Amino acid sequence: MYSDRYSRQIMIPEFGDDGQEKLTDSSVLIIGAGGLGTTLMYHLAAAGIGTIGIADHDIVSASNLNRQYIHFEDDIGSLKVISASRKLRQFNSSLNIIPHATAINKDNAYEIISQYDIVALAVDNAQARMIVNEACVELGKPFVDGGINGFIGTSVFVNPHETPCLACLYGTELPPEERFSSLSSVVGTIASIEATSVIQYLLGIDIPLSGKLLYYDAKEALFERIPIEHKADCPICGNK
Ligand SMILES: [Zn+2]
Repeated sequence: MYSDRYSRQIMIPEFGDDGQEKLTDSSVLIIGAGGLGTTLMYHLAAAGIGTIGIADHDIVSASNLNRQYIHFEDDIGSLKVISASRKLRQFNSSLNIIPHATAINKDNAYEIISQYDIVALAVDNAQARMIVNEACVELGKPFVDGGINGFIGTSVFVNPHETPCLACLYGTELPPEERFSSLSSVVGTIASIEATSVIQYLLGIDIPLSGKLLYYDAKEALFERIPIEHKADCPICGNK
């Protein structure tokens, strides 16, 4: 039924034509078009997820190019969502790519997130993470998060009311803003893990990071999967 394009993934027993059809009919919102987001969008577009939204307000700068390889030198000064959308449409013209040229904030989070089946969070700050966490818990929308600091990476899958949320994991007090160091290969590893969680969810198969934190230490080539405790008094998801 599907063209040669997806033949190698349709061979996977959990996929088949049915799985491919599920991806075609699905929508994902990627929040952040930086290092994590740009790797994520290539994986999700390659897999054939029918509708991909991208939310980001930033413009491409030279300092992005060490890890954000969807943007080219000619794109410096352009909106990241426009640069990324243009490349993704060339890469897979059968997909519906929707740019949202805005930062996700308390005013727009609900309206934008509610249009999608699942959210892939790819931001570098705790404030955006907490806004999305709260909106997704409120909307009952599953999401995957990823984070990077140098050789350390983390990822977690949250399915509201089934798993603990990010406030259970990190608390609600925001840490001071800082600029994290970032290496393309480590960013790519975490983004790939996020993309796999999204695909597992959309296929309806087990998600090994559901309610668990993946901790990756690239210096030691070490992966750990740490269970997260649900906090009954969590101000976001507790006792709901
Ligand atoms: Zn919680």
